[in-house]
Amino acid sequence: EAKTTGRDMACFYSMETDLRGQARQTMEQQLRRAIERGELSVHYQPRVGARSAQLLGVEALLRWNSALLGSVPPSEFIPIAEETGLIRSLGAWVLEQACAQWMRWQDSTVAGGALMGVGLSVNLSAVQLADPSLAADIRAVLERTGMPEQHLELEITESQLMESAPSVADQVVALKLLGVQLSIDDFGTGYSSLAYLKRFDIDRLKIDKSFVHDMLDDPADLAITRAIISLGHSLGLKVVAEGVENRATAQMLSALACEELQGFYFSRPLPVPELERWAHAYLGSDPLWRPGTAGGT
Ligand code: C2E
Ligand code: MG
Ligand code: MG
Ligand code: MG
Repeated sequence: EAKTTGRDMACFYSMETDLRGQARQTMEQQLRRAIERGELSVHYQPRVGARSAQLLGVEALLRWNSALLGSVPPSEFIPIAEETGLIRSLGAWVLEQACAQWMRWQDSTVAGGALMGVGLSVNLSAVQLADPSLAADIRAVLERTGMPEQHLELEITESQLMESAPSVADQVVALKLLGVQLSIDDFGTGYSSLAYLKRFDIDRLKIDKSFVHDMLDDPADLAITRAIISLGHSLGLKVVAEGVENRATAQMLSALACEELQGFYFSRPLPVPELERWAHAYLGSDPLWRPGTAGGT
């Protein structure tokens, strides 16, 4: 009796594994055709100054609306894109789209000029970082689109910098030589060695949203957030908090001298027309966010 159950279970598990494998394969097959089928788009999330309340930049975030699978979140398709190497073409596509879009924003009649001269952040995967032609490819996109390099910022996660081969250090140098800015994404969630902060020429730290989210309720998260801000400042870096979902958190971060804020409190990542409306309204109205009201430094 028990033996039969055991066998049935084993059979059930392997079938489940099998189905998961099939689902993965389907996703991979669909993802391969997503660009040519026009299923991909880029959304943009604003980042604002904690003191000035000014719109400082936007982060490009990839979206996939599959004809077969519906809307698939990046947390599901980015890992598959990385394992299959598809992230190279997806990443190149996002960069080209975002740079071309940024150029269209340099027109005072678009969104009332609200997006003129803002920073543009694009996420890079470790797989892209391992590609020796990355810097040359990025330079080609900058030249093709006319995007000025000093307005482009590349986001790399901490664990990607850490786990990488020595050649990655050369890659980071090559990227910096392009004149772009570099930020460390999801900071605080990677390895604890901080040596790479000294080794690489980094411009910004982005505090991971898992710390920001509960910092008002969880003293440990508050302590970590404080420590990251202080570490960033000691090294001459700007610090960005991501995952700011309410006004009280924004005020606390401003009081802690965190320079830049990003999160649903200001806006979710938006498709281009909505982002343009948001930016225009933000420029024209009383700032949603009034800095300096929490006391502080
Ligand atoms: P990320 O680069 O850390 O991007 C921030 C993520 O946090 C986005 O999720 C954004 O929607 C979400 N977020 C922003 N503000 C808040 C908030 O206040 N609360 C909460 N709960 N979440 C917030 P999204 O768009 O689902 O992207 C997830 C991750 O997928 C990104 O994390 C990034 O690592 C990756 N990703 C997205 N687009 C690309 C891309 O074009 N290339 C690469 N390599 N990775 C990408
Ligand atoms: Mg990012
Ligand atoms: Mg992040
Ligand atoms: Mg992330």
